[in-house]
Amino acid sequence: MDLPVFVTKPDLPGFDEYVSELRRIWDTATLTNSGPLHEELEAALICALGVTGGLTLFANGHLALECALTALELSGEVITTPFTFASTTQAIVRAGLTPVFCDINPGDLTLDAAKIEPLITKNTSAILPVHVYGHICDAGISGIAAKHGLKVIYDAAHAFGETYNGIGVGNMGDVSMFSFHATKNFNTVEGGALVYADKRLAPKLKSIRNFGISGDDAPYVGLNAKMSEFHAAIGLCNLRRYDERRAARAALVARYRERLDGVRGLTLFPPCPNTELNYCYFPVIVNETEYGGTRDGILAALAERNIYARKYFYPLTSSFSCYKGRFEIQYTPVAEYFAARVLTLPLYAELAAGDADRVCAVIRDGVK
Ligand SMILES: *Cc1c(COP(=O)(O)O)cnc(C)c1O
Repeated sequence: MDLPVFVTKPDLPGFDEYVSELRRIWDTATLTNSGPLHEELEAALICALGVTGGLTLFANGHLALECALTALELSGEVITTPFTFASTTQAIVRAGLTPVFCDINPGDLTLDAAKIEPLITKNTSAILPVHVYGHICDAGISGIAAKHGLKVIYDAAHAFGETYNGIGVGNMGDVSMFSFHATKNFNTVEGGALVYADKRLAPKLKSIRNFGISGDDAPYVGLNAKMSEFHAAIGLCNLRRYDERRAARAALVARYRERLDGVRGLTLFPPCPNTELNYCYFPVIVNETEYGGTRDGILAALAERNIYARKYFYPLTSSFSCYKGRFEIQYTPVAEYFAARVLTLPLYAELAAGDADRVCAVIRDGVK
């Protein structure tokens, strides 16, 4: 039996390279609280992401998102997508806000800008779209937000390293959240960052990240979401190899496309216009009638061969039991259709071309 192939495999630095970064931690005995490696990673990311405003590091992407919602002092309702990872919606609810679920567009599965305005009420304070699979959200969202005086916070967990019209994607909207979780295309084991247009947010975010403390006072209700030096060290190492790994993923995506394009009943997403992609995920949509088999059938057929694809995103976050009876759940038929039919295939820099070929063979051969 072949070794298992999982949907992703975390990128690790060379062991010796990491150890030499650790030497610096032992030299200063600074383990956390914005040590020298933390500051160096922050500066390196401002450069790598083409940030024109500010960037602040966090212990993970989720807490970064919670801190963003706190810092912007939002209230009432936030228009968002149910086609996302649990974190997006949970951050909204944990911040005491009400999610209002807007449907997605079938072309790239991001928030459907044309469906936002009918959901805006006097209680709406923000829009929280997600750059799903690195597909950049409709640029029209900012115009809608400006017209109605709303903030825009992007969940950019999938969009690390991308540019739109040559500009770093983090510069869109008021705030963007990036995740550096082990499974992402750039990782610090656990970690994340906020990128924001208004640099004046920096001291507030740093205070909220550190228990809301400033001097002897706590002007904000904060939490502990600081990134340690050990995590920053992994980040510095992984950042050096980012371009090389992106190129490896790009080659695998080209391979998948070559072998899966034209398979009846299978929809691939065309490369997004004006976007420099990061090739972080490879989603396919299975139309069971045309394909003659279901998404779950492909998932099972792959699993029989020790290959593990992922239903991502399934189910919609709006169906979570913790939200039942708490607020109105909007009907989002497009999101429902795609959640039932999407499959993300194994994709990571070290994935062997032969393993990608085996995935394609299973899909091409068809399943019950
Ligand atoms: C990974 C992810 C998050 C959460 O990031 P963490 O760093 O794991 O907390 C949020 N939203 C989306 C879309 C993600 O993929």
